[in-house]
Amino acid sequence: DYGPAPESNAEALEWIATHGGKFGHFIGGAFTKPAKGFETRNPATGAVLAQVSQADSKVVAEAVAAARKAQPKWAALPGHGRAKVLYALARLLQKHSRLFAVLESMDNGKPIREARDIDIPLATRHFYYHAGMAQLMEAELADRAALGVCGQIIPWNFPLLMLAWKIAPALAMGNTVVLKPAEYTPLTALLFAQICDEAGVPAGVVNIITGDGETGAALVEAEVDKVAFTGSTEVGRAIRRATAGTGKSLTLELGGKSPYIVFDDADLDSAVEGLVDAIWFNQGQVCCAGSRLLVHEAVAEDFYKRLKVRMDGLRIGDPLDKCIDVGAVVDPVQLAQITSMVDGCSEGEVYRADTPLPEGCFYPPTLITGLSAASPLMQEEIFGPVLVSTTFRTPVEAVELANNTRYGLAATLWTENVNLALDIAPKLAAGVVWVNATNLFDAAAGFGGVRESGFGREGGWEGLLAYTKPKVALKGAAVPVP
Ligand code: NAD
Repeated sequence: DYGPAPESNAEALEWIATHGGKFGHFIGGAFTKPAKGFETRNPATGAVLAQVSQADSKVVAEAVAAARKAQPKWAALPGHGRAKVLYALARLLQKHSRLFAVLESMDNGKPIREARDIDIPLATRHFYYHAGMAQLMEAELADRAALGVCGQIIPWNFPLLMLAWKIAPALAMGNTVVLKPAEYTPLTALLFAQICDEAGVPAGVVNIITGDGETGAALVEAEVDKVAFTGSTEVGRAIRRATAGTGKSLTLELGGKSPYIVFDDADLDSAVEGLVDAIWFNQGQVCCAGSRLLVHEAVAEDFYKRLKVRMDGLRIGDPLDKCIDVGAVVDPVQLAQITSMVDGCSEGEVYRADTPLPEGCFYPPTLITGLSAASPLMQEEIFGPVLVSTTFRTPVEAVELANNTRYGLAATLWTENVNLALDIAPKLAAGVVWVNATNLFDAAAGFGGVRESGFGREGGWEGLLAYTKPKVALKGAAVPVP
């Protein structure tokens, strides 16, 4: 199924057409009438895909009220009752996986191969996993209760997957949600809203509202019990300020500048393959992208040489083409930002992949070597297909360079020496450390950051607990207390 023919977009366009190309919000189990809003475009072609409504604070309040009304009954369901609904959602995601994958690829610009093999299956798995956890809750978490209504705000880089990370654990633990997808990529969230009905999600348990940062800010201010945010560190900081002193629970999954360390004894070809995945997966628009290459000076020259050969072989183009490795950047605004960051740097040596670059919202895989540790490109998140690099001499220096960042989301190290790996891994300031591997995710393993990459975990036990509060029921003592 990896032939040269592009995946058909007919079903996706037809689905958009059944809504007249215009979407309202999904509140209380039904779509509202489409209202004034914005266009969402296919970044690879520039074509308008649909017209989406902008929720103001009145709409936000309506959605929160619908979630509030539905919450007690949802939380009162036995765990297996909520599990049944979560399993149904997982099965429907699977059933409509092609439609979801094509829609995601068109709205975001990511290669269909990634949407089909990574985004949609991982999102589905998240619902399966949390269906199981909903049933376990009564036995294992009898001393915890749902928080209530959760306001959830997600970014555009993994629209459906980030939705799954937010909605599945919240629902499993008896919460109801109001979720706002990013303005660039609202479509798979709206399709998900539609399948909620088919899956038997009771009205008001899942509400999807669309809009920009103003809508997000209104959701943070609304009468919600928790705010769960994934996005930039800057907005995360504003949300932390806005929720301070309100009693609202908060989890933040923010940016990163994750180190990718290659020691002199590493299997260089494997490390190159890993790096292609670490930085050019999803055009580098990945919070945990291995965007900072630290390579031992003894192998640096050899490693860069092999890496450049591999870069030149990457195929950039139509995201719906199943052969494509690198798709479009999500939006021209984002493209301009990547361009200005790279062009604004006077240091280092820039290498751009020698591969045909299509017209439009595309940026070539880029490697910048010889940067000093203090260079803005070594410190700031570029959030594009740009890898920056420097060399080190000793493991101590590698750790120092790796931790020389305000972020701490992920880290990768590559070595054949298990003792070295065991020594270095715990010294890296990161929420996850991958050894001779990269981008491994599992619904059962909590994902999240330290430092300015945020706090709280999504997935695993920590992720579940983050959607609950302690509950203690003291029964009358059998023996009177003297
Ligand atoms: P962003 O912060 O601009 O937007 C994220 C979401 O927040 C969007 O839905 C947006 O509409 C909304 N928003 C914007 N301003 C807001 C405000 N004042 N109040 C409330 N909501 C507001 O980020 P982005 O550009 O969409 O995403 C890229 C960033 O997300 C990167 O920094 C990336 O590292 C980070 N990210 C982190 C993770 C993680 O798990 N740690 C995962 C994916 C992306």
